[in-house]
Amino acid sequence: MSLLAIDKVKREVALMRGIGVSAGIVIGKVYLLDSRKYHVEAAPYCHLDESLVEGELKRFKDALDLSKEQLSKIRDQLTGDGRGKEHAGIIDAHLMILNDQLLIDDTIKLIKAERVSAEWALKSVLKDLVALFDKIDDPYFKERSSDIEHIVDRIMMNLSGKEHESLGDIKEPSVVVAHDLSPADTAQMIQGNVLAFLTDIGAKTSHTAILARSLEIPAVVGLEDVTNRVESGDTIIVDGMTGAVIINPSTSVIKVYEKRRKRYEDYEKTLLHYKDLPAETIDGHTVSLLGNMEIVEEIPSLMDHGADGIGLYRSEFLYVNRDTLPSEEEHLAAYKHVAKKMGSRSAVIRTFDVGGDKLLSSVDGIEEGNPALGLRAIRFCLKYPDIFKTQLRAILRASAYGKLKILFPMISGVEELRRAKALLYEARCELEDEGEQFDHDIEVGIMIEVPSAALIADILAEEVDFFSIGTNDLLQYSLAIDRVNEHVAYLYEPFHPAVLRIIKTVVDAGKRHGIGVSVCGEMAGEPEHALIFLGLGIDSLSMSARSLLKVKKLIRSVKYHDAVNISKAVLGFSTAREVEGYIETKLVDLYKEEPWS
Ligand code: PEP
Ligand code: MG
Repeated sequence: MSLLAIDKVKREVALMRGIGVSAGIVIGKVYLLDSRKYHVEAAPYCHLDESLVEGELKRFKDALDLSKEQLSKIRDQLTGDGRGKEHAGIIDAHLMILNDQLLIDDTIKLIKAERVSAEWALKSVLKDLVALFDKIDDPYFKERSSDIEHIVDRIMMNLSGKEHESLGDIKEPSVVVAHDLSPADTAQMIQGNVLAFLTDIGAKTSHTAILARSLEIPAVVGLEDVTNRVESGDTIIVDGMTGAVIINPSTSVIKVYEKRRKRYEDYEKTLLHYKDLPAETIDGHTVSLLGNMEIVEEIPSLMDHGADGIGLYRSEFLYVNRDTLPSEEEHLAAYKHVAKKMGSRSAVIRTFDVGGDKLLSSVDGIEEGNPALGLRAIRFCLKYPDIFKTQLRAILRASAYGKLKILFPMISGVEELRRAKALLYEARCELEDEGEQFDHDIEVGIMIEVPSAALIADILAEEVDFFSIGTNDLLQYSLAIDRVNEHVAYLYEPFHPAVLRIIKTVVDAGKRHGIGVSVCGEMAGEPEHALIFLGLGIDSLSMSARSLLKVKKLIRSVKYHDAVNISKAVLGFSTAREVEGYIETKLVDLYKEEPWS
């Protein structure tokens, strides 16, 4: 057994605040996914019995050999893959460090001389080396210092006997703490033991955060250094609404949060009262409330929360966590499943929006400096028409089994839309020739999420059946804020007058041309924004399961006439804060007892 387990240091209570991105309160034990730091910092000092020293030296040597083996394998993979060749030199340098006299020989000497654990000896030698490098004011040496730290992390990991961790390794219900999680990692949580997760980086509309809401996993992101502040096994409280995180709380604080959790759960239960009621204002105006989904497993939860249909199926999630592209039959199976489950209710299948923060491991050769502005969504599809047509054919074929609609993401202009429609037309012709059944009147819409599309919404409206406003990207591109970057997260201002004006422009253009306008970005699921959309005359709002009932409650608490006046008023303000203040007072008037809006 590793000596690390012997000395469990009593940890201090700490309060941190990040960005609460998925509601819910969890009290649980930490599972530190990026555990390298843990191993380095937790090495205890203790004298070994003389008889154990040989064994300790062997353990150290085995960990070194394993590290060499792992690095050689990585180097071979890099050299075998043309794109990685240039990085192979870094691995060679790391391999050299594994033979470095200063680091390795000194560690061995220390184990022998002081009769200490390999972890402690290595950590101690590392500390001296880093101090030495720190004195040298040269960027080259500073860089070497961090190389040595990486190598020490690897040896430490191998000393602990642990393998590379993944979310599948988690055996007990836990709060996962990681530097970052990809949407692919998050998608795996549906099978796992993850009660909540915390990350150092990230922001509210990253796809990782969106997925957390969809899967109803409480989450706080943008905590900056939470991975340095916790150990696996620490008790932790996560408040996904306020973004508060309490590490090693006292018993009295745990009691307070247990009450808070109970209150939240009770509140969620009271919302179920709205499940089968229509989303209708006091004076009889109705709005359709739809569900956003990423994976088909979410359908039952959306139904349980009273969704009138699916307003956004982020089909790109069919592509993550796999090395090959889905075949037409695999696409078909997924869309047919959705169509059949929804019956007479419609389901909007968005053609895949890969790129940005959603990487596609099955298509090689795409490395971009600025992926959010790069080969994403419809741009990717138009560059790879065969991949696109495989999907289009499958959606069309599935349309024979229910009420499906097609939605193109990231359209920025008319020509791009026409090219996408031309490929859809080709797919239709092929299927007709093959005698396949499909819905010949299938509706085709576009996401309005690029400012250029919003500004020409009146032109685009002539060529499509509906608009779906993607506020996540619309804000990203209009306010110039990277949606996954916690450092600019404070600029995410849905009430920004520019955002409100753009949305009004799109709604008005859609109305003038008699096409449906929906909102499917995260704003749709927040009552304070839904109130404005209602007043602007939006037909439908699409959101994650958890938001459906609280938005329905809002709609049922207000008169349409009042919402129209509120929307008019907000367009007269100059700052986001003014709008926010105004809306807050209106919400307080509408429902006074609301503890979790
Ligand atoms: C949006 O941009 O608002 C949207 C709904 O699409 P996604 O979040 O998947 O980019
Ligand atoms: Mg988008």
